[in-house]
Amino acid sequence: MSKRLVQAEFNVERDPERCIQCQVCVRQCSNQVHAYDAESDQVTCDEASCVGCQRCATLCPTNALTIKKAPPEFAPDNNWTSDVIQNIYRQAETGGVLLSAMGNDTAKVSWWDNILLNASQVTNPSIDPLREPMELTTFLGAKPNAVELNFDDQGGPSLATKLAPQLVLSTPIMFSAMSYGAISYNAFESLARAAGQYGTFANSGEGGLHKDFWPHGPNMIVQVASGRFGVDIDYLKVAAAVEIKIGQGAKPGIGGHLPGEKVDERISQTRMIPVGSDAISPAPHHDIYSIEDLRQLIYSLKEATRYQKPISVKIAAVHNVAAIASGIVRAGADIVAIDGYKGGTGAAPTMIRNNVGIPIEFALAAVDDRLRQEGIRNQASVVACGGFRSSADVVKAIALGADAVYIGTAALVALGCHLCQKCYTGKCNWGIATQDPYLTRRLNPEIGARRLVNLLRGWSHEIKEMMGGMGINAIESLRGNREHLRGVGLSDRELSILGIKAAGE
Ligand code: SF4
Ligand code: SF4
Ligand code: SF4
Repeated sequence: MSKRLVQAEFNVERDPERCIQCQVCVRQCSNQVHAYDAESDQVTCDEASCVGCQRCATLCPTNALTIKKAPPEFAPDNNWTSDVIQNIYRQAETGGVLLSAMGNDTAKVSWWDNILLNASQVTNPSIDPLREPMELTTFLGAKPNAVELNFDDQGGPSLATKLAPQLVLSTPIMFSAMSYGAISYNAFESLARAAGQYGTFANSGEGGLHKDFWPHGPNMIVQVASGRFGVDIDYLKVAAAVEIKIGQGAKPGIGGHLPGEKVDERISQTRMIPVGSDAISPAPHHDIYSIEDLRQLIYSLKEATRYQKPISVKIAAVHNVAAIASGIVRAGADIVAIDGYKGGTGAAPTMIRNNVGIPIEFALAAVDDRLRQEGIRNQASVVACGGFRSSADVVKAIALGADAVYIGTAALVALGCHLCQKCYTGKCNWGIATQDPYLTRRLNPEIGARRLVNLLRGWSHEIKEMMGGMGINAIESLRGNREHLRGVGLSDRELSILGIKAAGE
């Protein structure tokens, strides 16, 4: 059988009454779905390669296009769904690993929707954030067990305790690790600019930091990952913090691969590898086989940065995440970032993305509990990541124990991403996950940064409103305050792991 059995994923419908044959759709689709036929003077389409990114429909001047998920052409079956069947066809035809991008999209992926927030009524009155100051400033880094003050004759007391280096955020939200290579130069610049403009941090990801971006260093966290791409002493010094990347929520336990065709001159300079060579991140760090090895790397990085910068360790949320986090804190990390199984990515094997790891809600609660029980919660900040969709998710995460969150997919959506999940093809029609110079120009970093700043501003305002509703005027009072959370539709065991009561209790 030579005929391909995989069916088109999307139907592309063109309304002939509305279409003015302007060919905007022909120019906008990098997948060559639309074509102009000069003989008939008509725009035609081959919908087999449509990925549903909605670029053509959004830009069509007469709204003549509709892109719809194709109805499954299989008998209804809850077990052998059309996706399952299509995937088997794909593998039967290619013999390859199924690839996906962005986060896990399987039916039940979020427990935030089963957690509800509290609000004040009658006693402990609520606070109006428009009229009273609300504090969202967040400090990330190790905190002392106690502070000692010096009292002298001149002026007031001064701090005697030497504080560990801290990252100071104007809001408890940062941008997740996204490497230049996985995302475009303009997308990277949008994130870096927005972080600086709003007083928060972007993360270089594991692909190094191009020198063009060094001026953004005070608002960048740079990663040291298994491939050590772009890592040298200047890279470490230019950033505000350094993050050792052990794992990633979308693909725990496996490495990464940026194909050589994406490694152009600028990416080769950034990653410090030859043009056109594959950038392979091994699954493990080949010098880390124990917590002691990790401790050595943490302290090497502290030495290299003269103990001036917080050192973060990022791990994927896996079954024994609480014990791992405890070890990381004891190894000297200032920040532990935990990435849940809804975390996004530029490319991951579909089966791993959808089946490996645990939800951030449970991982975060377990880590916060464990660190408190061991009396070491103040020795490191906890940053949660993996599929945060709204300010409400952020508030719930902070009440569950996070000091701050990383957002990745939401930030890309703010830049125009339509979640087509085809980042790994390099043909992102929105100029985000591509290195094609023609496509990259579609994203203007000035506009991108403005949209990201607007997102941060909107979410921060909503966080203040939710805090005000609870009668809280500082994010510090919400942190780990699970009394403000109640569960609905959760089993006793789930409630117990989350450490929250059921609604009505
Ligand atoms: S962009 Fe719209 S109006 Fe222009 S050719 Fe395509 S479908 Fe027709
Ligand atoms: S891939 Fe995107 S731009 Fe191309 S036809 Fe489909 S929706 Fe339109
Ligand atoms: S970044 Fe681009 S390719 Fe990736 S999901 Fe978003 S729109 Fe699709």
